[in-house]
Amino acid sequence: MYRDRTCGELRLDNAGEHVKLAGWVQRSRKMGGMTFVDLRDRYGITQIVFNQEINPELCEAANGLGREFVVQVTGRVEERTSKNHNIPTGDIEIYADGLTVLNKSDIPPFTIEDNTDGGDDLRMKYRYLDLRRPCVRRNLELRHRMAFEIRRYLDSKGFLEIETPILVKSTPEGARDFVVPSRMNPGEFYALPQSPQLFKQLLMVSGYDRYFQIAKCFRDEDLRADRQPEFTQIDCEMSFVDQEDVIEMFEGLVKHIFKYVKGIDFSDSFPRMTWNDAMRLYGSDKPDIRFGMPFVELTEMVKGKGFAVMDDAELTVGIVAPGCATYTRKQIDQLTDFVKRPQIGAKGLVWVKIEADGSVKSSVGKFFSEDELRDWAGKMEARPGDLMLIMSGEAMKTRKQLCELRLEMGERLGLRDKNNFAPLWVIDFPLFEWDEETQRYYAMHHPFTSPNPEDIPLLHTDTGKVRATAYDIVVNGTELGGGSIRIHDAALQDTMFELLGFTQEKAMEQFGFLMNAFKYGAPPHGGLALGFDRFVSILAGLDTIRDVIAFPKNNSGRDVMNESPSVIDQAQLDELCLKVEMSDKEN
Ligand code: ASP
Repeated sequence: MYRDRTCGELRLDNAGEHVKLAGWVQRSRKMGGMTFVDLRDRYGITQIVFNQEINPELCEAANGLGREFVVQVTGRVEERTSKNHNIPTGDIEIYADGLTVLNKSDIPPFTIEDNTDGGDDLRMKYRYLDLRRPCVRRNLELRHRMAFEIRRYLDSKGFLEIETPILVKSTPEGARDFVVPSRMNPGEFYALPQSPQLFKQLLMVSGYDRYFQIAKCFRDEDLRADRQPEFTQIDCEMSFVDQEDVIEMFEGLVKHIFKYVKGIDFSDSFPRMTWNDAMRLYGSDKPDIRFGMPFVELTEMVKGKGFAVMDDAELTVGIVAPGCATYTRKQIDQLTDFVKRPQIGAKGLVWVKIEADGSVKSSVGKFFSEDELRDWAGKMEARPGDLMLIMSGEAMKTRKQLCELRLEMGERLGLRDKNNFAPLWVIDFPLFEWDEETQRYYAMHHPFTSPNPEDIPLLHTDTGKVRATAYDIVVNGTELGGGSIRIHDAALQDTMFELLGFTQEKAMEQFGFLMNAFKYGAPPHGGLALGFDRFVSILAGLDTIRDVIAFPKNNSGRDVMNESPSVIDQAQLDELCLKVEMSDKEN
């Protein structure tokens, strides 16, 4: 046996026991005739003591240990004289009587501690060392715990976990596919699934009325902090359900996870908001409702006073930053610079202060009287001491810009506490999204999403107004997941394809197998998928999903540890009948 105890479990109660531990040398320090070694494994750190007087040879060997050496130690558990209250094993230490070096280690390129001196790139290159750090390990432990609880909950509700293929035909989730050439079928390619969408719908046709899978999905998109080219979804589908059934089931799942993983009880139902309200009040389909500051529209009341910016605007809309009338010129300039950043792209920011004494100051005093500005304050419910921040322009753009400013103000005012969780369902999404560039409609969710039955008469007459039976679950301004009730009627699916600009042939070529399956008794069905990485990162209080994935990719989609993607041998290319030609762009 290499060990009979772990480095995290020994306490004062164990004093006097003879134990055998194995692990990595966190650090070793010599103090007079004593050498102290911190021994680390997955479970914690235990202090080992070597005494020069009692066993000079052993102590000599301990003095030769380097960081990250793998060792086995035997000894007796003793109470410590100077206790370390920062670690659970801090009341004891091991008086060593045996030491075996199981393996040496090169000096690691960064310290294996929560506050490491290693930068991002270095940590990713040596990810296997980074994973030894307790803070990273805790994220993976959390991930495991959540996966376990997800399975426990869904199993208790009668869901079957069924795997679906990774080598598939393209699945339409709106991103680019990763493709894999087929050696046995030269010139032909598989796609990696953007999600198991079509397969889970087929499983419903097959009668597996409650399906789930913790599924790998692949989307070739530009990367951001919360995106990875491969990521994991908790993918689910149910038959004989309506939107209410799906929402209830998965609200239950989210509550279960918060309860059993975080100890947080949500007794009330999660609030719901229509997509229209979310856009109107927060300028976003994933509003952070940990704080208020809803949008107030002023469009008509500000027109006609000679201020062209507002006169010409499709929308003038503002928020009230409570208590911010004390903001200095410099702080307000910072906010203006913030909204003018290219990522946000606003032209400017109008501000109005209602001073504590009730007097009014603003950046548009030239155009508006104090009384008029006070009317704005009335409409916006601003009180003395508050700052009103107002933007004008094209409606959708302006809403998105003000959304960024609202989040920034929430941040500045400390209203976005990571330990406060505010879940929300956003419902009644539009079915279609108009694209100016290509002058056509796209499915906002995916082409299998069912229209709201009430809106079916509008499909051909007022296409853009048709609501989908689609829902998203949002937590703290992050889209945790979403889904829809699907179309199970072949004729309606045909209409949908037609509106999306698919010819009958094209639809058959891409989704023929699904359309054929629907001829054999497709039950009413619907489902959703939750982003598992995001779910873990929200519970871990992290801004990026990278730290909850054991081996993530960087922002250029590269794994800097194993240096992928990489070129492949000519022989491999030949076998696949592929020829690589670099265009000027790549060269
Ligand atoms: N397949 C969808 C997605 O990946 C989720 C769903 O509709 O169930 O977003």
